[in-house]
Amino acid sequence: MNAAAKFSLHCSRCDWRGPDEDRARCPVCDAIVLVTYTDPAIPVDPSLPGLWRYAAHLPLNDLRHLVSLGEGNTPLVASAHLAPALGLGSLYFKLEGANPTGSYKDRIAAVGMARMLELGKRAWVATSSGNAGASMAAYGVRAGLEGHLFTLEKASRAKIAQIMAYGPHLRAVERLGYDPAVEVTTWANIAQVCRANHWQMLVTAHAFSPHAMEGVKTLAYELAEQLAGQPCDVVYIPVGGGGLAVSVWRGLVEWHAAGKLASLPRVVAVQPGGCDAIYQAWLRGDRHVTPIPTCASAISGLQLTAPADGDLVLDMVAASQGWITSVPDEATYAAQAKLAGREGLFVEPASAITLAAVEADLAAGRLSPGAHVACILTGSGFKDAAALQRMVEHVPLPMVRPDDILALAAGA
Ligand SMILES: [Zn+2]
Repeated sequence: MNAAAKFSLHCSRCDWRGPDEDRARCPVCDAIVLVTYTDPAIPVDPSLPGLWRYAAHLPLNDLRHLVSLGEGNTPLVASAHLAPALGLGSLYFKLEGANPTGSYKDRIAAVGMARMLELGKRAWVATSSGNAGASMAAYGVRAGLEGHLFTLEKASRAKIAQIMAYGPHLRAVERLGYDPAVEVTTWANIAQVCRANHWQMLVTAHAFSPHAMEGVKTLAYELAEQLAGQPCDVVYIPVGGGGLAVSVWRGLVEWHAAGKLASLPRVVAVQPGGCDAIYQAWLRGDRHVTPIPTCASAISGLQLTAPADGDLVLDMVAASQGWITSVPDEATYAAQAKLAGREGLFVEPASAITLAAVEADLAAGRLSPGAHVACILTGSGFKDAAALQRMVEHVPLPMVRPDDILALAAGA
């Protein structure tokens, strides 16, 4: 390994280590590889755009290749009403819907496209239920790269419309998202095409794109910076494929190792009850996630029967002394309405599932009253039009005449 190298690779399961190269899997045991930085210090450069102010711990050698639409710097908002109602010491919400395309996936796209420019690749290929597709498409346009996106057979039409606006090559794959065999075959075929064409696979999982996934760590860096020493016992993170939870934990560990975070919180991975392969493996005490036969959850973004980073989530939960909570869809929809109606936070169901899990864990005694909690709210409520319609369809819209407004006057 070059002594001056900024980063290198190591295996998530065995002792293999090696210099950086274009690979996602260990040459010895085929487990997922992860990026490690030579210097644990993480200097922040506020002169760089978006998440690139943390470039010291992002896998890019030449900053002339950086791609940014101003991602990151998302708000951390303290609960005004729900924390006291639930008896929590504090409750913070990290609003990832404030990213340029409306979800945290922009962090992955920014790093992934920059990495492609550095490697001299001309086209990306991804699978997405919507949010990652919008991010890849937008950042691909920004980077001047060609894009091919394969989406789910039943993907949310509103999410697909956003992707279409950016103009990538877009196709839906039959049964994708409902059948683990289709997921595995789709990913294998994309990998084969990418090898043949020297294209980049940008599926948002460490299992396929470990370098691009490094971008998500910046969410954790920001969270730690914004907490500014205030206590945080537990971080709740939605889990579909698992990459977000793994990255946030890695970011917290790096920030801690850099001497910037006094103590590490526990991490709780949250899955929808109808699609919870990682939860099932965790209950059994397994170290390996077995795909489930079918997905019965309607929560867009979390419908993965064969979660690609599932094994890493099990490692992360153990390392953080956290746990996994599985939540029925109806509780998630109720939490989505509560976040809007009680906190003024309009998020998609895949974000609201974290609040549903906090409530479930308090009721079950897994989470202590008085605990200090942060929820990662991954995407904007505008993302899922069908879920929005469902949330408000019972709300009446009475028609009045202008003079009827005066009925609101005191004493009228
Ligand atoms: Zn290995």
